[in-house]
Amino acid sequence: MATIKSPQDTDGYNADVEKLRDEEYPMLNGSIYLDHAGTTPYPKSLMDRFAHEMTSNLFGNPHSASASSQLSTSRIEDIRLRVLQFFNADPADFDVVFVANATAGIKLVAEAMRALPGGFDYAYHQLSHTSLVGVREEARKSVCVDDGQVDGWLAGDCPFGNDDSTDSTVLFAYPAQSNMDGRRLPSSWTRQLRQHKTPGVKRTYTLLDAASLVCSSPLDLSHPETAPDFTVLSFYKIFGFPDLGALIVRREASDVFNTRRYFGGGTVDMVVCLREQWHASKGHHLHERLEDGTLPVHSIVALGLAMDVHESLFGSMQKVAAHTQFLTRRLHDGLRSLRHGNNEHVCTIYSSDINNQTGSTFDNGPIIAFNICNSLGAWMSLTEFEKLATLKQFHIRTGGVCNPGGIASALGLQTWEMKHNFTSGFRCGTDNDIMAGKPTGVIRVSLGAMSTVSDVDKFVDFVGEFYRDDSLPFRQPEPALLPHRKEPRLHIQAISVYPIKSCGGFQVPPGVNWEVRPEGLAWDREWCLVHRGSGQALSQKRHPRMALIRPWLDFERGELRVTYEGHDAPPDLPKGITVPLSKNPEVFRHHLGSARSMSSRVCGEEIVAQTYASAEINNFFSGVLEVPCVLARFPPGGEGKSMRHSKAHLQKHQGKQYPASSSCPGLPSPPESDSERSSERRILLSNESPILAISMASLDALNKEIKLKGGREVSAAVFRANVVVASSVSPASSLQETTPYGEDNWSTLRIGHHNFKMLGSCRRCHMVCINQETAEKSEEPFVTLSKTRRFDGKVFFGTHMCYTPGAEALAEPLSKEAQHPTIRVGDVVRPDL
Ligand SMILES: *Cc1c(COP(=O)(O)O)cnc(C)c1O
Repeated sequence: MATIKSPQDTDGYNADVEKLRDEEYPMLNGSIYLDHAGTTPYPKSLMDRFAHEMTSNLFGNPHSASASSQLSTSRIEDIRLRVLQFFNADPADFDVVFVANATAGIKLVAEAMRALPGGFDYAYHQLSHTSLVGVREEARKSVCVDDGQVDGWLAGDCPFGNDDSTDSTVLFAYPAQSNMDGRRLPSSWTRQLRQHKTPGVKRTYTLLDAASLVCSSPLDLSHPETAPDFTVLSFYKIFGFPDLGALIVRREASDVFNTRRYFGGGTVDMVVCLREQWHASKGHHLHERLEDGTLPVHSIVALGLAMDVHESLFGSMQKVAAHTQFLTRRLHDGLRSLRHGNNEHVCTIYSSDINNQTGSTFDNGPIIAFNICNSLGAWMSLTEFEKLATLKQFHIRTGGVCNPGGIASALGLQTWEMKHNFTSGFRCGTDNDIMAGKPTGVIRVSLGAMSTVSDVDKFVDFVGEFYRDDSLPFRQPEPALLPHRKEPRLHIQAISVYPIKSCGGFQVPPGVNWEVRPEGLAWDREWCLVHRGSGQALSQKRHPRMALIRPWLDFERGELRVTYEGHDAPPDLPKGITVPLSKNPEVFRHHLGSARSMSSRVCGEEIVAQTYASAEINNFFSGVLEVPCVLARFPPGGEGKSMRHSKAHLQKHQGKQYPASSSCPGLPSPPESDSERSSERRILLSNESPILAISMASLDALNKEIKLKGGREVSAAVFRANVVVASSVSPASSLQETTPYGEDNWSTLRIGHHNFKMLGSCRRCHMVCINQETAEKSEEPFVTLSKTRRFDGKVFFGTHMCYTPGAEALAEPLSKEAQHPTIRVGDVVRPDL
């Protein structure tokens, strides 16, 4: 339980801020500003003083002898010194380079490092802002590291060096404080890495991104030997105005800039252009060489005023730090204490628990990142939250907040998953912010020097008022728990998907929740093999060896691993290949050569799929099957035409006539059943493809018949079902549901929390005679099926069904299960007859 501090416990809180709020921030106009990590509001007295300064003095371009120019020059040098003093930095050891913002400072460093002979290797911390991540594109090699990897590095396991002849120069960059969740990273890293000697590494430079930290905390550069080589920040984030940033360089590291190529106006003593190309850089101060073009004179003048005004309003940065820390704790406790009527937390907070001073090695700045769940555990859409918050006059930020690594680790998103979300249409700032049951961003509330207790309390009240659900939710009793039901229970015995159409299955391990969609089970028939010449999708019916091509879905690594289990593979073929799960076109190109679309004919229907051009992948499949073919993947989310066409019909042997369903247009069938040209409407692969279920009671009955005639039993695998349903009690007591072929008469199924609609029996072809373990063909079970299960000249076994989002998907509040429907092995299955 969070402990709410008593109102008297106002440790560090600067109550004077409340008095100056109305006077200094008229532009807020009643709204509440909670996005200090974005920028901080500028006080009115700063704007007044700036206007006064501008109207009393004329500031000219610094490069001449006029009075206005001289005024600019001397003012700029004064302010440069004041900036150093603001960070306790001795001008003998540090220089300040004025830049547009922190990002421009980062780019100056990246540009210089790139021009070093041999370039540089780059390591950046996982919590880095996008502007730090982008440096990697300039580096020879780059790696993203987490805390553990930094510790490993300090213990001797450097990510670079040793592996090639030339000594490398390394740049390590990290944020002093994460702009995503406010986490602060150890300042000791700069010292430790500097002292650390790695064979093969010439020198390790450190770049500290202080942009987020300095908004509300002092930064102390009084020890040059332990200070970062390069420190970047944006002044507008501290003072609200001017729009200006700084790169603070430790003079000892300034050699890095000697090989910088570009020179701009103001950075050179002489340039010759005609006949000869020569220039002499300004030599005395580093900043003279790096400040290209005319300085932002008026902004620098404003910076001097901003430092004055800030100090007079809020006191020292230590004072600001104590003030914001007090408020952050209050915000954190307030959000944590919000609970629904069923005692579930309203907010899932990603920022470290700042009350837990003992356990954690990191403290936290005034930023709280969180998400909201309703009482049933479903995630609140960020876009919806932001709309309401905006309506209620809160300034906050939601989404990825320019911190890709921080978001991924907080939300547990794998790299492939982020790419997958991207190719499925997710973009920064779009409405589509909950994907596959996971949020794709955070709500970020950040506080600053001008924040007050009232701001915090109003926000917590707002979240409580609109997102807390007091009513104890109605919990539907699980069928399994109903006391006196006489009917035998059914459960799911096995779940399989067939990632590559007609190839081996992937068994969903027990205990794993598998996503179901209206179009079928996740990852089922996502890929297929297409004949190079005809464009026909290959089928096991003609190529039984496809059964021995075994796919394995590895979500940890984000890849589909495919092996061939036959003994007859050509000797020069690799044992297996891997295909990325992500559909990012980039990946297609880098990983697999170029991908191209190919229209292909499956069962007479034209489909459009993206084919892989990777020789390694295609040679593997062509080699094991001895058929020239390519791997193809279907376009995301119902684009293009499908390879599956409508074919499942309610059969005459099925007693009832069911009303047409609106949620399952068409009566689709999986491609494993017999192919016949259908006049039914064509369906989209990923929209309406169904799930195939079989019942163990039916299989047992079939095997009994087969054995009676002296044949060999067949395994469930030959029917290539997605879901195998079995009785949970002994067959002796079986009632209607477990009678063989009872599934013919089911109209709906409830599995776990979800509803499924039956679409009709599955018509079978000779493919059921292929042993899925050995790829050998026999005559059973088709012969026996023809005798016992033939209706109207056609043979049936198993049943098609599709997921129908039930009332729970429309209900308010949406449940966690309805937001991300899943089934798992062992789920209770209840047919409604
Ligand atoms: C804001 C911020 C940046 C980028 O600052 P710009 O002013 O946009 O260049 C970089 N890093 C962190 C940690 C930030 O908070």
